[in-house]
Amino acid sequence: MKALILETLDIRPLNVGLTDTFTISQGSVQEVQSLLVSLTLDNGMKGYGEITPFPELAGETKEVCIERFNEVSPELIGKSLNNIRALSHILEEALPGSPSVKCGIEISMLDALTRTLETPMWSYFGGLNEEILQTDITIPILSHERSLELADKWVKKGFRTLKIKVGSDHDKEINLISEINKKYPDIQFIIDANQAFEENQTLEFTRELLAKDCDIILLEQPLNRYDFIGMGRLKKLLNVPIAADESVFSRQDLQQVIKYNSADVVNLKIMKTGVFNALDICSTARSMGYELMIGGMVETRIAMGCSVAIAMGYAPIKYIDLDTPLLLSSDPVIGGYSYCGPDIMSWDTPGLGMEPLI
Ligand SMILES: [Mg+2]
Repeated sequence: MKALILETLDIRPLNVGLTDTFTISQGSVQEVQSLLVSLTLDNGMKGYGEITPFPELAGETKEVCIERFNEVSPELIGKSLNNIRALSHILEEALPGSPSVKCGIEISMLDALTRTLETPMWSYFGGLNEEILQTDITIPILSHERSLELADKWVKKGFRTLKIKVGSDHDKEINLISEINKKYPDIQFIIDANQAFEENQTLEFTRELLAKDCDIILLEQPLNRYDFIGMGRLKKLLNVPIAADESVFSRQDLQQVIKYNSADVVNLKIMKTGVFNALDICSTARSMGYELMIGGMVETRIAMGCSVAIAMGYAPIKYIDLDTPLLLSSDPVIGGYSYCGPDIMSWDTPGLGMEPLI
């Protein structure tokens, strides 16, 4: 057996521009400000990961992430990736409140491990789904004109599901969505309020769009993340599936969603929980009869590649929201999965199959 001893663990800034400011109801991201994790094993193998804090949603800042990384990385040096879940447990204990740091290190460990095993990461996760995955595409909160321009652009590229960020101006958002729907009646919509709505607003907003014949396939996190009971009431009153996103940052949160029957769908994001916790949440949600969604923060293809591997390998995931690399002005890595319109194309090189260009 190979020892797979972790010899070095480093981070450096991974800043990438966005084509448009990514505004949601809780705040704005001007550019991706991730941290690139790179790891070396005693066999010379490298592994890469990405830490993407999203302060407005997860409460983590980049500065705190760097501090936490520097505190925890010495604990891992000298340990073996043959015990990758035990190392994940060390991170869990050492990093309460820093799921993105845990996630970035876990991705780099999984990348190095699967490179050593000479298997693509999707195969390590089980290789379940052999069909091509299709992602939605997100239109953040922008001017009416720019939103329409983007809708045109994405529909022409073949996207069939538009995820519209809402929660700033009710009438303007209804007008936008119904205008897109008039122009492209076959398009499906996911509506994401990122916690901005009250219960009545949610009912009015959704019913107004349904009355205008908009095909709303999913309503994401309408209410505050802790309003499990309100989400449960909405679930009974609306015949559109509701996804719990910010409501599920942990396995404990998922228990609340289950207890109050707060959602139809659970949105998995490795940056909210770390990779292995996301797998646990995925399995529990699935066994309790929930549909699954997988998304991310505003990430590059490194972190998103790990989520792609989970979606390709681990479980049947109905709603694929792995689009943020398409919103970036450049790609900081080569190799790995690729996009062909909404289609996510697989790869056959080991690990994530990627090499950073920085
Ligand atoms: Mg969301």
